[in-house]
Amino acid sequence: MFNQNTINPFIDQIVYTIDSMFENKEIPQSIKDYLYLICTGMILNYGTTYIKDIYKAINETRYIYGIKDLNKLLTKEEYHSLINRVTESTNAYTLSTVTKEDKELKIKYTIIIAKNRNNKQQLLEYLTHELNHILTSLNNTFTHNNNSILFRYGLFKTDITSTKKDSGRIFNEVINTLETEDIINKLLSLRKYKIYNNKFNEAFKILDSIQEEYTATGYEPFVNLYRPLFNKKDIKSLINKTMLEGSTDQIEELINKKLNNNSSYSEMISQLDELYINYEITKRNGLEKAYETSSQYLDFKNNIIYVLIDYKPDLA
Ligand SMILES: [Zn+2]
Repeated sequence: MFNQNTINPFIDQIVYTIDSMFENKEIPQSIKDYLYLICTGMILNYGTTYIKDIYKAINETRYIYGIKDLNKLLTKEEYHSLINRVTESTNAYTLSTVTKEDKELKIKYTIIIAKNRNNKQQLLEYLTHELNHILTSLNNTFTHNNNSILFRYGLFKTDITSTKKDSGRIFNEVINTLETEDIINKLLSLRKYKIYNNKFNEAFKILDSIQEEYTATGYEPFVNLYRPLFNKKDIKSLINKTMLEGSTDQIEELINKKLNNNSSYSEMISQLDELYINYEITKRNGLEKAYETSSQYLDFKNNIIYVLIDYKPDLA
């Protein structure tokens, strides 16, 4: 995609664009440093075709640094839905607010970033993760279905007119985490070039502690189950493309085709949600290693994921 001659104008353009975007907004340089990196990694990962969407996702998001001034910056409704979830130990959290303007539904994203995070590498992962959620929800965000309105958050669709719980949250998180991992690894691939942009080089120091390949830390051990499937070239390109373009039904169709007769995509994602809840409960009791050998976990791994991993792409 790039070589030693083309990489420098590309990096200069990203730094210039991010700086111009935030010229009149109060945002600390340390957050801009992360944004230079995330923007670059996203373009390297998804291709220049999606450059406008990537800039849009970064530009239209509000960034709140530290939770102290939350109540001043958010509306009352936003504040109340968030305040119980954000604590001093929160790393990064995205708030999605849906409003109706001129009969049209609008969505506003706010990322709340914890202050005093010493681990910069981890904060890079969390911020990339949150911005990737926003990027992969940008197109085809709302669909009307009879009287309900479906809000698409990556692969996850939820009915915002009902309080009924929708399944698929964890599968979306798993895929988002694997995409985050790729974005960071694409950034690491820049080490082979000589880059002259001082601001970018300063930001790039965040990656100093990573040796060769980056493995994301979120949503373990479920991410590990899906990594082999996701890393199949055809699957990955289909997932990335359809998530960015908002045509994610294709993924459901593909996975349905490959699962055995007794199960389906919708069953798989709801089982994964349940598995995650049980895992979280076990983790609280300090038994997470035991959980990974539990029958519920192994059943899931053997019966469902195995079929998927064994999948031979027939798209080519
Ligand atoms: Zn997430």
